[in-house]
Amino acid sequence: MAKKLLVVLFTILLVHMSLIISGVDCRALKTEQMNGCDQMATLDGGGFSFFSAAGAANSSRIPLMRSLAFRTLCLRLIWLIFAEGRFLWVAWHKHHHLRISSFWALSEHKQDSWHWKSLLDLRPLARPFITCKIQDGLSASFWFDSWTPLGPLVNAIGNSGTRMLRLPSNAVVADSCRNSQWNLPPPRSDVVVDLHAFLTTIPVPTEEAGADYYSWTVDGEDFSVFPSSKTWSILRESQPQQAWYSAIWFKGHIPKHAFTMWVAVQDRLPTRCRLSSWGILTPLTCCLCLAADETRDHLFIDCSFTKDIWKMMLLRLSESRQGFDSWNHLLAWYTSVSSKSIRALRGIAVQTIIYSLWIERNNRAFNNQVNTTSDLFKQVDRTIRNIISARKTRKAFKHLMALWLV
Ligand SMILES: [Zn+2]
Repeated sequence: MAKKLLVVLFTILLVHMSLIISGVDCRALKTEQMNGCDQMATLDGGGFSFFSAAGAANSSRIPLMRSLAFRTLCLRLIWLIFAEGRFLWVAWHKHHHLRISSFWALSEHKQDSWHWKSLLDLRPLARPFITCKIQDGLSASFWFDSWTPLGPLVNAIGNSGTRMLRLPSNAVVADSCRNSQWNLPPPRSDVVVDLHAFLTTIPVPTEEAGADYYSWTVDGEDFSVFPSSKTWSILRESQPQQAWYSAIWFKGHIPKHAFTMWVAVQDRLPTRCRLSSWGILTPLTCCLCLAADETRDHLFIDCSFTKDIWKMMLLRLSESRQGFDSWNHLLAWYTSVSSKSIRALRGIAVQTIIYSLWIERNNRAFNNQVNTTSDLFKQVDRTIRNIISARKTRKAFKHLMALWLV
């Protein structure tokens, strides 16, 4: 579930970000010289720009920064700065912002673009993920990169460290070596003793070893390519799995059916009673039977139209029961059965009917299109056959057609 949501969100956002990686870089270059990405729309001749839209819609970047997907995407951009990619966007920022200072030590300037400020804001979040592997020591910042188990040495030793170790704040790791040996003053604090101890465990940087490189580290595992899914999982607040999880996201589900079911289970579908509770003027009467207020429980359980559909389904499945007393009763009916095949068949049937009822309700409310119960069940029947047929090679679906057609 988490992965699927991430894929959807990333697909949307990456469409925008691909603009940045490709053409928007050039526009960003021009724009930053004009003090701010908010002017991109005019440079684009009125075309849409993600950052300009975000900036124009909200002069503060804070609300968008709260979006988990957006923060994950920005972390990827931060990663691109450290990874050895050949992006014009990265090259431009390295040239204009990172020539004399580490990304971690940069100060934000008024004239910086909205998106660059967003990346700077996210440095505390990105910091624990980016570790540096020392090879020649010529590019790794001695004070600001995380290249020892102590983390960034500026944090571990403090601001007085530059004086204590006689290394300026812009020193690279190679500056702490001389004649193929580490060359640091004798330790005067416990942290520096730890640093000396660590240095005895790694090779002294040499040019022959190649260039320093960075890793994106998640749960102790190093990645050379940004692991979006793992990063997103780490950042999100995980919740305990809901009891209805397996009733919705079972193997073989149809995404659009499962999504409608997911919204319905949480009673979040915009039924007329919910719309009214938001202050929207709308009739409350159920679109299907015109005899009661349209709540979720009425629409999918108590409505006479719906009851007829459930009866047809239960008859097809050779069930003796006539219907369902409550929403929980409906969920329990198809999740408590032990046979995987029957559980899959019931799940497919219930989700198809919930989805079809919601479409029928919308067609009646907005398009004046009305199906009878038998017409609607014919559509449901055809959909279920198609679903089973498309999944006939799966073990749980192998004999479902026979069960459904009995
Ligand atoms: Zn009704």
